[in-house]
Amino acid sequence: MSYDFQGKTVLVTGGGSGIGEFSSKDLAKEGANVVVADLSLEHAERVVQEIKSAGGEATAFKVDVSDPASAKAMVDFTIKTYGSLDGAVNNAGIGGPAKNTGDYEPDEWRKVMSVNLDGVFYCLKYELEVMEKAGKGSIVNMASILGTNGFATAPAYVAAKHGVVGLTKNAALEYSAKGIRVNSIGPGFIKTPLLEQMNKSQFDALTSLHPIGRLGEPEEVAQLATFLLSDKASFITGSYHLVDGAYAAQ
Ligand code: NAP
Repeated sequence: MSYDFQGKTVLVTGGGSGIGEFSSKDLAKEGANVVVADLSLEHAERVVQEIKSAGGEATAFKVDVSDPASAKAMVDFTIKTYGSLDGAVNNAGIGGPAKNTGDYEPDEWRKVMSVNLDGVFYCLKYELEVMEKAGKGSIVNMASILGTNGFATAPAYVAAKHGVVGLTKNAALEYSAKGIRVNSIGPGFIKTPLLEQMNKSQFDALTSLHPIGRLGEPEEVAQLATFLLSDKASFITGSYHLVDGAYAAQ
């Protein structure tokens, strides 16, 4: 499928690694100007260099999505650099420690919530302000299969991702009639640096949760984000889209 992102600008948070990296590259390949925003400027700059070497247009920005001032600065930078904000992939996220709910320390809980839920809210807030003035835009929030299923030892992550799914629905109710579509994506487990600490038996256990018989690849999620941001998804808003190898079908 080909899309027309020529002259459009999209920002991707967590664009320096994993799903965000592939999303940045896929959108640039389709002709978008991409702001690759990440906690690590070095990682974002590497992705930008690779996009430019492939003939695309991108700029790196250092953002901490858990800081509202930083999220606002990212949106301001995008407008200053490219003149518009047509799309956003609010993708930055962290895993958090693997512990049962009763063993979670309040500061561990807060850290996960501050990036995975507060961070999506801050980005959304400032993106929507700009898009509302323009009367158009499309936003994808990266939730997870754990935005609908529980997962023992991941209480903060599960709660935050359920929150992202709900926040997405709410923003869609408020902004769809103003020309702005808002959707969330629920990936199953995807082979990215987020899963790097796993040993073989943990990897096999996770794989067995996916009836398709393997984990996902980051480009398989990125391609869905590109579609949802594009004009081809013009009647799709407020929805939660699984890309999960039938994980949730069981
Ligand atoms: P990843 O490879 O670890 O990428 C996450 C990126 O987010 C990293 O570049 C990281 O930067 C950045 N980041 C972390 N905290 C940030 C902050 N406060 N502000 C800005 N950027 C920040 O992970 P991934 O697997 O691609 O995950 C991307 C998204 O998909 C996350 O929301 C995750 O929850 C979701 N997801 C992943 C899976 C999976 O199995 N991989 C499944 C479902 C959903 P640093 O590297 O500098 O820390």
